[in-house]
Amino acid sequence: MSPTPITVARGDGIGPEIMDATLRVLEASGAELDIEEISIGESMYAKGFTAGIAPEALDSLRRTKVFLKAPITTPQGGGFKSLNVTIRKTFGMYANIRPCVSYSPFVATKHPVMDVVIVRENEEDLYAGIEHQQTDEVVQCLKLISRPGCERISRYAFEYARAHDRKKVTAFTKDNIMKMTDGLFHKVFDEVAAEYPDLENEHWIVDIGAAKMADTPEAFDIIVLPNLYGDILSDVAAQIAGSVGLAGSANIGSHVSMFEAIHGSAPRRAGQNLANPSGLMLGAVQMLVHIGQGDAATKMHNAWLSTIEDGIHTYDVFEEGSSTQKVGTKEFADAIIERVGKTPQTLPPVSYRSGETISVKVTERAPATKTQLGIDVFVHWTHGTPDQLAALLLPHATEGLPLNMVSNRGQKVWPDGAPETLTTDHWRCRFLAPAGVTTTSLEVIDLQRRLAEAGLEPIKTEGLFAFDGEPGFTKGQGQ
Ligand code: NAD
Repeated sequence: MSPTPITVARGDGIGPEIMDATLRVLEASGAELDIEEISIGESMYAKGFTAGIAPEALDSLRRTKVFLKAPITTPQGGGFKSLNVTIRKTFGMYANIRPCVSYSPFVATKHPVMDVVIVRENEEDLYAGIEHQQTDEVVQCLKLISRPGCERISRYAFEYARAHDRKKVTAFTKDNIMKMTDGLFHKVFDEVAAEYPDLENEHWIVDIGAAKMADTPEAFDIIVLPNLYGDILSDVAAQIAGSVGLAGSANIGSHVSMFEAIHGSAPRRAGQNLANPSGLMLGAVQMLVHIGQGDAATKMHNAWLSTIEDGIHTYDVFEEGSSTQKVGTKEFADAIIERVGKTPQTLPPVSYRSGETISVKVTERAPATKTQLGIDVFVHWTHGTPDQLAALLLPHATEGLPLNMVSNRGQKVWPDGAPETLTTDHWRCRFLAPAGVTTTSLEVIDLQRRLAEAGLEPIKTEGLFAFDGEPGFTKGQGQ
């Protein structure tokens, strides 16, 4: 086998020590790697690269497509960008994979049989960073969910389940409230699930699902989630496994993928041969599986599990009674290297397939026939009651584009509003063509011009469209 090119960055703080330990264990496990090193983090921020990485280093990632990264120290203060976010977004890393495993009785945990993999969508949702102040009182953030984004992450979760002999994939959404965005995620998850009849699938509303996961994590196997829920729950899952310092993570992209520990650079522990290199090592195991070197991944992971169950622990997980020896970073790596070829006796051993990598396709779909049914015009208005605003709007409505309703913060206030509803200066005015009738973009632009001339300047609009005859917007009270 010819060595696989990878890019390595030693990072800041404890980064160089844990990377050194990880590279030694990789080599001892038989990983065939052709390593290119790049500098990231503090030294690059100091040279004026605002994202902590030089453009030539990005070229290395383009060449190798695989990045093993130690943590960096993010400078305080303005003007700096997060390296992780920059790399994730630049290379379209759509999936964040975080196995959360407990190692009871060797590492203290509230949940002795937890073995959950969190598959977080990594690019969309509220993280598009599209935010606006629209009135004195109201700001908004756009939640964007795409069909290809949902399909890719759902398919990755099911392919991951097959590749790792997992039994069940669970989706968490809040589609009882966000019927269109989270609704799309749930719908596409169900469509993809139907293609994997060998695997169990289920859906939970995220609030009760999160509560169940925190209480009974053994009920879950793989959990796939939209970005925000995944961000929060992947930390909860790692924490309740009792092993934040032991967790690794993969960011999977179609072009470049990145593997790392979930913790930071722990500057106070740097240079003392104290840090636990396990998170980065388990990130490296994910990397080996990703590049098809399953044999080396199996050896490395089983040697690590054997070391943990022999009670050889770094200070952060050492406990009198369950641990036998407190070791430093280097000695921990030495202990793993001594155990390469062993399988654990109490903890379940792992076995990864070799020569297989997960590939995910997205279905091409013909575009729908799109027709316009109306428009939601948002206005900044502070001069009175909902009925008074409706009286100002009604003269500008037409037979083809009547005023259908006015809402404030999503609550309908006209017609038939409740006097108790608190209103702000941000009003949505819906003009909707009668049933069976369509409108045109020119008609809605003309309506906006008339409103602006009357002093009701639109601050934003949302088109009301039908796709193949199905309305593409929520209706009614509180939506
Ligand atoms: P941290 O994860 O570095 O440390 C939190 C606590 O855990 C500290 O007490 C630390 O000593 C301990 N700890 C962390 N990793 C350990 C290990 N491997 N072995 C033993 N103990 C360990 O979080 P922080 O202190 O909030 O952040 C420090 C720096 O790391 C900040 O500059 C932050 O921006 C950065 N950071 C980087 C990444 C990354 O590069 N992916 C992620 C998170 C934080």
